[in-house]
Amino acid sequence: MASRYLTCWRLFGPASAFITVLTMWIVFIGPPGAGKGTQCSKLVETLGIPHLSTGDMLRETRRDSALGKVVASYIDVGRLAPDYLVMPIVTKRLAEPDCRSGCLFDGFPRTVQQAGQLDEFLARNGKRIDVVLHLQVDTEVLLGRLLKRAGLENRVDDNEQTISARLDIYRTQTAPVLEHYQGQGNVVEIDGQQAPELVFDDIMTGLNSRK
Ligand code: AMP
Repeated sequence: MASRYLTCWRLFGPASAFITVLTMWIVFIGPPGAGKGTQCSKLVETLGIPHLSTGDMLRETRRDSALGKVVASYIDVGRLAPDYLVMPIVTKRLAEPDCRSGCLFDGFPRTVQQAGQLDEFLARNGKRIDVVLHLQVDTEVLLGRLLKRAGLENRVDDNEQTISARLDIYRTQTAPVLEHYQGQGNVVEIDGQQAPELVFDDIMTGLNSRK
C-alpha cells in the first residue's frame, strides 16, 4: 500500500492523495524549531494518515482542570510531562479506529523509555515503526527561529528561558531516542535547513526508500 501511494505521489504529486491511503507507522523526530509542525501538516494532508502530536494533545487538556494544571506545570517551563500522563493519552488515541493502519507520531516518543513502551504496544498488535524521520537543524538556527516565533505567536513555552530548557532536554533525553531507532535501522536523515518544499521532497523520497 505504501509503495503504491508513493508511486502515485511521484507521478501525480500530492493531489493523488485522495485515491489511496498510506499504511505506515512513522515517527517524526526533530528539535523544537526544526519545522516539524509545517512538515507534519503537509504530510498528514498528503498521506491521509492520523497525526498524533502529544504536544497538541497535552495542550488540549483544560487548564482549569486538576489534570490540566499538572500538565501546564510541565509545559510552561519546557519540561517533559511524566509518562503516567503521556502514555495513556497515546494508547487511548491509538485504540481509535482511524489509527488501525498507521499514523504519524509528532513529538513522541520523547525519551528512550517512551520509545520502548511504544515498541511493546505496537508489537502486541503485530506492528512496528516503519520509518523514523530525523529533521536536522543547527542549534544557532533553531535559537534564531524560536526567538522569532516567540515574537509572532503566543505560546506560553516560547520565551528565552523555556526555549533553552527545551533544547537542553531535546539534547539529553530525546536525541538518545534516535540511537534507539538507529539500532532498528529505520532512521532517515532529513536536512531541515533547506526551503520547506525541499525538506518535504526529501521526506517523501525518504519514505519511498523505506517502502
Ligand atoms: P511540542 O508541542 O511537541 O513542542 O510539546 C510541547 C510540550 O509538551 C513539551 O515541551 C513537553 O512539556 C510536553 N510534551 C509533548 N510531548 C511530550 C512527550 N512525548 N513526553 C513528555 N512531554 C511531552
